[in-house]
Order: sequence, then structure tokens, then C-alpha cells
Amino acid sequence: MSIGTNKSPEACPAAKKCGGCAYQGISYEEQLKIKTDKVRRLLRDLCPVRAVVGMENPYHYRNKIHAAFGRLRDGRIISGIYQEGTHKIVPVDDCLIEDETADAIIRDIRGLLPSFKIQIYNEDSGRGLLRHVLIRRGFATGQVLVALVLASPILPSKNNFVRALRKLHPEIATIVLNINDKKTSMVLGERNITLYGKGYIEDILCGKTFRISPNSFYQVNPVQTERLYRKAVELAGLTGKERVMDAYCGIGTIGMAAADQAGEVIGVELNRAAVRDAISSAKANGVKNIRFMAGDAGEFLEDMAARGERADVVFMDPPRAGSTEKFMDSVAKMGAGRVVYVSCNPETLARDLKYLKRKGYVAEEAWVVDMFPWTESIETVCLLKSNK
Ligand code: SAH
Repeated sequence: MSIGTNKSPEACPAAKKCGGCAYQGISYEEQLKIKTDKVRRLLRDLCPVRAVVGMENPYHYRNKIHAAFGRLRDGRIISGIYQEGTHKIVPVDDCLIEDETADAIIRDIRGLLPSFKIQIYNEDSGRGLLRHVLIRRGFATGQVLVALVLASPILPSKNNFVRALRKLHPEIATIVLNINDKKTSMVLGERNITLYGKGYIEDILCGKTFRISPNSFYQVNPVQTERLYRKAVELAGLTGKERVMDAYCGIGTIGMAAADQAGEVIGVELNRAAVRDAISSAKANGVKNIRFMAGDAGEFLEDMAARGERADVVFMDPPRAGSTEKFMDSVAKMGAGRVVYVSCNPETLARDLKYLKRKGYVAEEAWVVDMFPWTESIETVCLLKSNK
């Protein structure tokens, strides 16, 4: 299933079944317009929406790929993505939005499986071993992480497998086994066993190096992420003195991008692996005015507010479900003058902006940064100022 060099997404043979690229057959310019119009509609009575920031080359931008593995009736092994809304695998060999090195590694892993007698996991019977492969590539460093997601922790002839794979792809910096023994649609389990390398990779964003573990969140489009973060930091209007919160901070990317222009930064994040990555990256970059805490962002801010602590600027970058009233109440209590809201879901952004308005925050401007060409996903960054 090869798309070759044809850059027309209509040529993608998996298009109809995959459903990932909802904007098949729509020009990139038109896509950007659709996204801006949607955000304008949702934020109509809330704030002006500025011009969208698109990509010069909106292909192969995804630095993270996961492939599901399965077996056809005739025994052939296939890898690809689940057909939308089902657990049927649509075979994918190369994809217009995925990193090409990552796709090549997945094809080669598939080729190696029979000779190593690695069994494919069967979702119905619960038998077999290999469920998924997750690849992440640091676009700035070239480092590649391969996670083999297995139903149990024993990989037959693992050393030979690692050797064979590294021979084909010397760019692989680390290989881990991720154990997922649950009946779940989540790709990754919680446990990782490092087979080769450090168990994580590094990438560079906004001049800082970041450690990225298999389970940590990391934006999938690094080219646009830099633009997003620069816009977020610009909107924060930092002068070097401010006390800044980086809430829902992941591996600490936004806080670290802002730290040089702030007095002090405090990051808070639920995922402990991501917090460990953030702390380690802060050390490696010699950033001394930042610290990271593990916990629920709402509870953490509520505790801070209860102790009478203040913040000048709050960056918030919640998951698709948006933020919570507890969190936003606490932002207001801490007296933040500016809030920079980074959102991957304009619907929950609109909901939360309305709530923040009642708390005295006026949304001043929003920018759409296109992180996900060909797909319907929309990323927005919005500046709010306190009217108190
Ligand atoms: N700001 C980061 C991560 C954004 S993704 C970046 O730009 O890379 C959202 C993050 O919120 C994820 O890392 C997720 O683990 C975290 N998260 C989800 N629910 C949370 C909660 N209740 N409290 C704190 N963090 C949470």
C-alpha cells in the first residue's frame, strides 16, 4: 500500500476507511479557513480571532506514530490504524502526515516478526504478544524511540531482535517494552522495560532540550509547536519579574520556554513520568527558576490559593475535556493578571472562556495555530486579562 511521492491526499488508499484525514480533497488554504471560521463562530461573543498560522509544508509532520498489529485469515501480518469507530485494522505502509522514518521502522518491524516467532496479540482470545508499536522521533535531534507494546513482559530472543532492528535503523536511540495486559483501547500500559538505550529520547524546542518518556505527553507537530509556544509566551507579556504558573504542563515545555523571561515558574501535571521528565530537563538546561509538581491542577491551585499564594500569569493547557471550575476559581483567587489558555478543543475553550468571564477575565485575542493539517483538530491560544 504505497502512496509514493504523490502528495495528493486523495491518492491515499486508506483514506476512506481510516478517517483520520477528514479534509481529503480540500486544499490546505481552505482547511485553514474552515478552522478559523469554526473558532470565530464558537468565540463569537467572546473575543476576536486572529489569522491562522499554517504550515509551509503540511506533510509528514507527525513525530509520533502508533501502529496496531493484527493477522489476516491467511496468516499474513498487517499493521496500521483502526478503522474509525471499530477495532478492524486498516493496513498502512506509509501515510502523508506521519514521519517517514517512523513508518519505515514499523514496516521493518513487521518484516522481522515471523523469523523471531513473535506472536501477534488477538483481542478476542486475549492470546499472543505484540499489540502495538509506538514510535517517536525528535525532529531536532533525530533520536528515535521504539516502544513495543506487549501483552506480557517476555519477548523471545529479545537481544537478537534489538540487534536486528538497530542494524536496519541505526537512528534508533532507545527501545522499550511497554506492558499492556489490560482489555483496553488505550495503546500504552503503565510499565516500561528498557531493552536498549536510556528509555527516553530528547528533542529541542524553543532552544531548550526536553526529555520525553514513552508515556509523557509531547505535542505531535514540533514545527508548529514552536510557533504556538512563542505566541503563548508573547501573549503573556512577561518582563522578568512575574510569578508564572504552567498548569497541565506535561514535560514542562511551555514553562521552560517562558522561564528566561519570568521571575519564577511553577509547573503542575498529573502524569508522574512527565513530571520526572520536566525536572530532569530543567536541570539539563540549567533553568533554575522553575519547579514542577505532580498532582491535579485544580486541587494544586486550590491549595495554593487557600494558603494565600499569588500568581501573576497562568498558562493553562488542559486536555480535550477542558479545565474545571475549581481550577478557574483558584486562578481568580490567586489574582493572576493574565491567563494564556492553550486549547486543543475550541468547544471546551468557549465554555471555559464564558466561565472565566464571570470571574472577571476578559478574552482579548485568540490565535489559531494549525497543528494538525488534513485533520479536523484545532489548536487555539487565547489571552485573557483580569478586569480587576
Ligand atoms: N503543556 C503541555 C501538555 C499539554 S497536554 C505541552 O504543551 O506539551 C495536557 C496535559 O494535561 C497532559 O500532559 C495530561 O497528562 C495533563 N493532565 C490531564 N489532566 C490533568 C489534571 N487534572 N491536572 C493536571 N494535569 C492534567
